[in-house]
Amino acid sequence: MSISIAIDGPAGAGKSTVARTVAGRLGYIYVDTGAMYRAMGLFFVRKGIDPADWEAMGEACKEADISIVYQDGEQQVLLGGENVTGLLRTEEAGKMASAISGCAAVREKLVDLQRKLAASENVVMDGRDIGTVVLPEADLKIYLTASTKTRAKRRFLELTEKGIPCNIKEIEKDIEERDYQDMHREISPLRRAEDAVLLDSSDMTAEEVTARILELHEELN
Ligand code: C5P
Repeated sequence: MSISIAIDGPAGAGKSTVARTVAGRLGYIYVDTGAMYRAMGLFFVRKGIDPADWEAMGEACKEADISIVYQDGEQQVLLGGENVTGLLRTEEAGKMASAISGCAAVREKLVDLQRKLAASENVVMDGRDIGTVVLPEADLKIYLTASTKTRAKRRFLELTEKGIPCNIKEIEKDIEERDYQDMHREISPLRRAEDAVLLDSSDMTAEEVTARILELHEELN
C-alpha cells in the first residue's frame, strides 16, 4: 500500500515549498494539483472558451490531454504532449485556474488523474480538496494556512525578487478574492478536513513547518 500525505490550504500559505521539501526528504513524489487546474485553464484559453461557460468547459475538457511526468524529481505538466510547466506560475494562470475549478466535469477529470498517481506511488499532494475529496483516506492530512497579510507579503517578496513590479495592496486583494472563490464554490470548496492537523505558518519558517510535518509523519509508524 502506498502512503499519502495531503496538504490543503489557501493560496500563498507555503504549501508547494513545504510539500516539495517533505517529498524530497521522504523520497516520495510531490503532486502539485494546482498546476493541473492551471494547465486546464490554459487549455480553455487556447481553445477560446469563456471561463464562465461551464457547459462549454464540460464538453471541451473531455478532449484535454493533461498528463504528469517527473524530470529530475520535478513534476512536469504536459498538455497534449507539450510541456507547459513554465507557463503555469503566473498570477493570470492562477486566477484562470480558480475561475474554472468550480466546473464539475473539470474536477472529475483531474481528481481521477490525482487518485491514479496516489494509488501507484507514495505521494505528498497539495491542493484545496485533497484531504476532503481526493484522498479522504490519506495517512496524514495537514491544513496549512497563514494570515492574509503574511501571505500577501510573501508573494510580494517573491515577485519583487524576480524583478516583477507589483503592489502589495493589490496582491492582498487578489488573495482575498481567490480565498473567497475557493471557499464558497459549490463543489469541493476549500475547507479543513475534520482529521487534518491545522498548521498556521504566519509565525513559522518553511523549515519549521517542514520539520513539524516530518515529525507527524514519524508518529505514523
Ligand atoms: O495552488 P494553486 O494556486 O496553483 O491553485 C490554483 C487554483 O486552482 C486554486 O485557486 C483553486 O481554485 C484551484 N485548485 C483547486 N483544487 C485543487 C488545487 C487547485 O480547485 N486541488
